[in-house]
Amino acid sequence: MRRWNGWGDDAKGYQLSESAWAFLDDCLGPGKPPRDITLKGMLSRLPPALLSDRPGISTDSETRLRHNFGQSFSDWIAIRYGRVGRVVDGVAFPRSTEDVRSVLSVAQNAGAKVIPFGGGTSVVGHFSIDGSEQPVICLSLERMTALEELHEDGCLATFQAGVPGPRLEETLQARGFTLGHYPQSFELSTLGGWIATRSAGHFSLGYGRIEGLFAGGQIVTARDRWVIPVHPASAAGPDLRQLVLGSEGRLGVITNCTVKVRRLPEQQVFSGSFLPGPNAGVDCIRAISQSGVGVMMARLSLPEETRTGLALKGHSGLRAIALEGWLGLHGVHDDACLLLVGADGSPARVRTTLAETNRLVRKHGGVVIGPLAGNTWYKSRFDFPYLRNTLWERGYGIDTLETALPWGRVHEYIGAVERAIHKGFEPDSERAHVFTHLSHVYPHGTSVYTTYIFRLSDDPDANLARWQRTKAAASEIIVAFGGTISHQHGVGHDHRPYLGSEKRPEGMALLRSVIREADPGGLFDTGNLVDTKETSS
Ligand SMILES: Cc1cc2nc3c(=O)[nH]c(=O)nc-3n(C[C@H](O)[C@H](O)[C@H](O)COP(=O)(O)OP(=O)(O)OC[C@H]3O[C@@H](n4cnc5c(N)ncnc54)[C@H](O)[C@@H]3O)c2cc1C
Repeated sequence: MRRWNGWGDDAKGYQLSESAWAFLDDCLGPGKPPRDITLKGMLSRLPPALLSDRPGISTDSETRLRHNFGQSFSDWIAIRYGRVGRVVDGVAFPRSTEDVRSVLSVAQNAGAKVIPFGGGTSVVGHFSIDGSEQPVICLSLERMTALEELHEDGCLATFQAGVPGPRLEETLQARGFTLGHYPQSFELSTLGGWIATRSAGHFSLGYGRIEGLFAGGQIVTARDRWVIPVHPASAAGPDLRQLVLGSEGRLGVITNCTVKVRRLPEQQVFSGSFLPGPNAGVDCIRAISQSGVGVMMARLSLPEETRTGLALKGHSGLRAIALEGWLGLHGVHDDACLLLVGADGSPARVRTTLAETNRLVRKHGGVVIGPLAGNTWYKSRFDFPYLRNTLWERGYGIDTLETALPWGRVHEYIGAVERAIHKGFEPDSERAHVFTHLSHVYPHGTSVYTTYIFRLSDDPDANLARWQRTKAAASEIIVAFGGTISHQHGVGHDHRPYLGSEKRPEGMALLRSVIREADPGGLFDTGNLVDTKETSS
């Protein structure tokens, strides 16, 4: 069953070895396990629903609780410490586009707002409804998961928008196809959620981001049903799919999505290499992204992440010394960067792609270690989010920050953002363990993804204050470097104050007018993305 107060399936876990705990203890000091509130305790704190029973809308307390939070750090503070706040007043489970229309009309008659809920994996505060005096109905898409049509010749598949990653891929792969979209939240996130937040998956280099995969679909707005037809290409004015992508529930409910699928590749191979230091690492992954060599995935862990990854996997003591010794012999020392690449297609194509990639690795002074590291990453790639539960239970919090920048600013930005995170913990005489990777690379720039682990305080308010301070400082750095406030997680409430810097006043005004046109009464206005009441950025 899905955990109500953390990540994933409660039957699954992520165990750390004693040496991994010792590593964290060394970096941060020992954690003190917090006292989590129980489900019963949490339910007893739930405010009464501001909505009387209506057909098709559940006001059951546990159902409301389970559809009220995402996965941002502030959500974790709320669910672990029992900071309940305002909670959705009812949950609807439509099965079809017609049902969605009925829910919207019930909501309009009840003077309620509506918030679509896909997998609830948002990490940027999409589900905060604090401040809403009107009732709020969560429209969960969990019963809208069907494959409606697969055009095998045209490589197009139409799904209901609530289909979660595993079900979508199982359905396609049983028919010999794949979408190839694997965000790390794959286990729980949904197709509609990916589109609504402009998601990027691990294989974005080969398969593209969701905006390249979304071909058309249906969205139910406060006014009507809006259909975006599928064309192989079009020069008929602006592409309206771009309005739906990243709309974060503000334009309406995406109910059906047609996506571009591919035939399953014959072979898929992953390989690992070590590069001697961050400059060589970044130069090498940039060369890979610009070479057209055709890898479908490339991911570079900078030195601290490489060291941390090995330590958390329990590679300490003799094994680590042996690895270091072997790398040292090949000219790769303490600041090694782990590079993982993936290639797919026919065996001949995979061979050529990896041979060319390995040539680039060697040209940058790197050492190819082959499939072991790549396959280990591949097999455990969806386990990492479970580490959030494990760390919390031992008294450590974890959060991530991401942006995308031109290549020329990458090193300077990483230094600045990592320093800002460290500084965020200094006023409380605490430390953060900070590490960074590049996992979505483009010829003209890259995403930069930074993770930080820190000790939890006994005081939930202190934890929240530290996190808010750090997040604000890091977001200011992103803006100062001209990075985007989000490469893949979206805007929600957490990034909203920074959106105006990149969209500019004219862009913000356009966005607001589009939202007002689709939703004049503010049916979907729970504060995500933009403040439509404002007149300037
Ligand atoms: C551990 C972890 C790892 C992650 N890794 C990645 C990653 O690798 N790449 C990445 O891109 N993101 C990642 N994310 C962020 C998150 O998973 C994505 O933003 C994802 O696309 C959200 O999908 P969801 O179905 O869970 O949407 P939700 O969280 O349910 O919703 C997000 C927003 O979209 C709206 N929405 C959802 N469905 C619809 C719909 N059908 N119609 C209209 N609006 C809708 C919601 O109202 C909300 O505003 C990660 C999150 C976690 C917790």
